[in-house]
Amino acid sequence: MMAINQLLKRLATIYAGETIRYPNLRAVSFAQWMLESGRATSPLATDHYNFAGLKWRPEMGLFATRVNYAAHDGTDAYCKFATLENFIRGYWAFIDRAPYSGWESHVDTPEQYIHYIGPIYTPSAGYADKVLALVPEAQSILFEAVTSDGTVANSGTTKLGTLVLDPGHGGTVKIGGSSPNNATSISGVKEKKLALEFCLLLRDELIRQAGVANEEIKVVLTRETDVNIGIKDRAAVAAKHQAQAFICMHFNGDKKPSVSGVETYYRAAVNGNANLADDKAFGRIVQDALFKGLKAVNPGTKNRGLKPDTDTGPGSLGVLSDAALGNSTRTAKCVAAYVELEFITNPAVEKTLISGPSAVSNRKSVMAELAKAVRGHMRKLA
Ligand SMILES: [Zn+2]
Repeated sequence: MMAINQLLKRLATIYAGETIRYPNLRAVSFAQWMLESGRATSPLATDHYNFAGLKWRPEMGLFATRVNYAAHDGTDAYCKFATLENFIRGYWAFIDRAPYSGWESHVDTPEQYIHYIGPIYTPSAGYADKVLALVPEAQSILFEAVTSDGTVANSGTTKLGTLVLDPGHGGTVKIGGSSPNNATSISGVKEKKLALEFCLLLRDELIRQAGVANEEIKVVLTRETDVNIGIKDRAAVAAKHQAQAFICMHFNGDKKPSVSGVETYYRAAVNGNANLADDKAFGRIVQDALFKGLKAVNPGTKNRGLKPDTDTGPGSLGVLSDAALGNSTRTAKCVAAYVELEFITNPAVEKTLISGPSAVSNRKSVMAELAKAVRGHMRKLA
């Protein structure tokens, strides 16, 4: 990959840390700016911080001033932004205006968004596809820009603390007691992939909800790509960040396709648990929220309940160990829950959460339910 322009890097760093209404549109909007500004090399970008070719409109006065600029299609009045932050806010304010009305019903996926606003923005053929082609590069630039430990923070006045999300499995080899994958869905989607996708959605939903509620929350993922991490090292991320809460996410499988439902595990007393009551309370809200969310999209699902990790078979879930989570040496403990979100070997689950036409919005509504409950619990811990 070519060396990244310093200005583009600065924009990525600020944008990665900025709260936006639809975090899942961060990469596609950034890709659009890369296209419009020639990766932050156009004079409009370098001189006026206008990376999106935004023409001047009086209602942009909150964010920008007017500047005459000779673009390839002639001289016109454009927006000049004093700061990169103003540009970011200005872009979204620009989209919030009349010609793009209705855009908020096209925000489920980056493709939906750019195919909706693209033809209004730049009516030349293939514009949306040109933007989409840059999304992977945008993603990697934004990912590099996020603090190296994968933290995404949302600043607000009510402090909720840090939550670590641990998508189970990953990669192709067994590492430190963690197998690369366990369950596989009817259509062949692996548990490791779903665990990561749901955790990313949950993170975005937490950041979005916290933004609306003016709360400060830090969300850290143990992995953001298809890599495996040892069991102890996953829990150690919570210790390193002195997290208030930890959720490990898995999906289940069974020989019988009729088996379905969500279950949540906490560290059993016999396995040693320095904060048993708190873990049970946290596990309870996680289980209830997930069941509520899942039942709304798949009425046939089962509430398999909150259980001690002694029920899993071999005796304990190492990822919930106090020593690994750092609880042995902390006064304020980290609450931890291990979720088996659904049986992906069940046809109704396959349809509602994995490959059916409403899977994307269903996933989002289930994670929104969990995010709401987790924020509520973390408010009490704070
Ligand atoms: Zn698993």
